[in-house]
Amino acid sequence: MSLVTVGSVAFDAIETPFGKTDKIIGGAGTYIALSSSYFVKEQNIVAVVGEDFPQEMIDKLSNRGVNLEGLQIKKGEKSFFWSGKYNIDMNSRDTLITELNVLEHFDPIIPESYQNCDYLMLGNLSPDVQLKVIKRLKNRPKLVAMDTMNFWMDIAMEDLTKTLKEIDILIINDEEARQLSGEYSLVKAAKKIREMGPKYLIIKKGEHGALLFHGSNAFFAPALPLEDVFDPTGAGDTFAGGFMGYLASTDDISFENMKRGIIAGSAMASFCVEKFGTERLENLTKSEIEDRIHEFVQLTNFDMVQSV
Ligand code: AMP
Repeated sequence: MSLVTVGSVAFDAIETPFGKTDKIIGGAGTYIALSSSYFVKEQNIVAVVGEDFPQEMIDKLSNRGVNLEGLQIKKGEKSFFWSGKYNIDMNSRDTLITELNVLEHFDPIIPESYQNCDYLMLGNLSPDVQLKVIKRLKNRPKLVAMDTMNFWMDIAMEDLTKTLKEIDILIINDEEARQLSGEYSLVKAAKKIREMGPKYLIIKKGEHGALLFHGSNAFFAPALPLEDVFDPTGAGDTFAGGFMGYLASTDDISFENMKRGIIAGSAMASFCVEKFGTERLENLTKSEIEDRIHEFVQLTNFDMVQSV
């Protein structure tokens, strides 16, 4: 099955308690595309970069089988730039700089070869652009998932409300869920958010795992306890890429299969945080991913011999 991913392809500068980077490659779309490319063969990206974006990274995505027909390269313009600083707990961060640059007037182009895609992942971008992508697909995909962040809630809440009505799954973190719903309890937040449109909601809780809500069902997956976490940037996008890549490759959108998708996404995210930027996601092997998924299964597997 085919997956279309829309999202920022960008430069990031990151500061964590372990170090600091100059401008490195980042962007929600980049992380999603790299992560999902390990699961789904037909992966297509819709994005925009400036003339400053290195061909080397475009080649890396292409070598991972990502179709780049929908990537616009704007002459004389600069790529999106984001800078963030992690707090000592590594679970929270402050945005230092957001320079929209080429994203400011992004008009997404959907190539003919992307039409009829089965799965759509709307990565973190302006909700107005996310909505345009849905509208520009001639047929509605089988499953539309979306990510967003507090930045868009602050400046584009009206557009966000419209886009939420058109999607199936929202994938956000706990802080974003609280801001979007105005509720501190994640159970209440999940209820309110699903009344805004999406039938499914995934709330990511960083090193504390992820929750999936649908109807009266809920599922929780832990994050893998890791010895070293160097840089959590992109972990959420990598999670979303693994989740959607898994669903697209198995072509099964049942709640049971979404649980497996969450484990696949969590496994991919656990690789992402091991190095700065996209480095760890660029050259994974099938057996590394399988072993990591197996570790997750072991982590939560137990036999209940006696209840009371
Ligand atoms: P995550 O850590 O999963 O939340 O994603 C971090 C990535 O999101 C970084 O690589 C940034 O380039 C990208 N990003 C940060 N802010 C925005 C924004 N306002 N719009 C689109 N992408 C963003």
